[in-house]
Formats: sequence, structure tokens, C-alpha cells
Amino acid sequence: MHCPFCRHADSRVVDSRTSDDGASIRRRRQCPECNRRFTTVETASLSVVKRSGVTEPFSREKVVNGVRKACQGRPVSDDDLALLAQRVEETIRASGTAELDAYEIGLTILGPLRELDEVAYLRFASVYQAFNSLEDFEAAITVLRAERDVASSSDPAGPGDDEARSEQ
Ligand SMILES: [Zn+2]
Repeated sequence: MHCPFCRHADSRVVDSRTSDDGASIRRRRQCPECNRRFTTVETASLSVVKRSGVTEPFSREKVVNGVRKACQGRPVSDDDLALLAQRVEETIRASGTAELDAYEIGLTILGPLRELDEVAYLRFASVYQAFNSLEDFEAAITVLRAERDVASSSDPAGPGDDEARSEQ
């Protein structure tokens, strides 16, 4: 690791600390040349494989940009979108996947987006799952209604739940 101040090629770790959620390690480093200190943050890399085959680092910003259009005119704030992107990243990291494609990210977005705003969810799902008929919308809305019924009843394992799962 180069020293960011004098570009010396080496540095010494003086302190290591794991973040509260265990997802990253902060290291305090000192340059033996200029003696200045700096911090590095280490996280497991999460790569996204694009359709072209090129991989790029996972980006919450891209998740936000991906759903922003679907949320136009809806009561969804920038904070809501940031939180959604954070949940998407946490879900992916919790699954232990180090590399995934855009389709899988879309799949991970659907759940939290549905909780956030059902209209935005339908818009996003219609593009992402390539709805091409009224029947596709009807089916998706039927699932939403069934989920709502399940959520309002005391039985969490109702038939609507299973239907939704197979739908995704
Ligand atoms: Zn230095």
C-alpha cells in the first residue's frame, strides 16, 4: 500500500478494527518514510457481471439509479432509496455471494421495493420481468393482494405466500 502523502511504497499497520457489522476492517497505517498516518478500509469484494461479460464492483448508487425511475411521482424519498440500496447490499452479502449478475440484483431489489411502494414495485417488475400483457400485470397484482391478505391475517404461511415465491 503506497503512502498517500509521499508515495512511499511501504506502510506499517498500527491498528486494525473490525466494523460493528463485521463487513469491513479499518486499518490504521503509518508510513515509515514520512511518519504520517492514514486509514484503509477493507471489504470483501462484490462483483457484478454485466451482460457483456465485463465485471464491475457492486454499487449502491447503481441500485438507486435503477429504481429511481420506477419511483417517479411516488412518495419515496432519497433516504428511502438509500436505505433500499443498503438492504439490497446487505441481503447479497448475507447470501455469501461474491459475484452476481444484474438479473440477480433485480431479484433482490423486488422484495424491499414492494415493501416501500407497491406502484413503484409494479413498474420496476414490469420492466425487469418483461411484462408484455395485461395478464402479466394482473398476475403480479393478484400476488400483491394475496401477500397483503397474508400479512393482515395471523397465519404467516398461507397459500398466497407460496404463490408469491413461485412467481419470483
Ligand atoms: Zn509517507
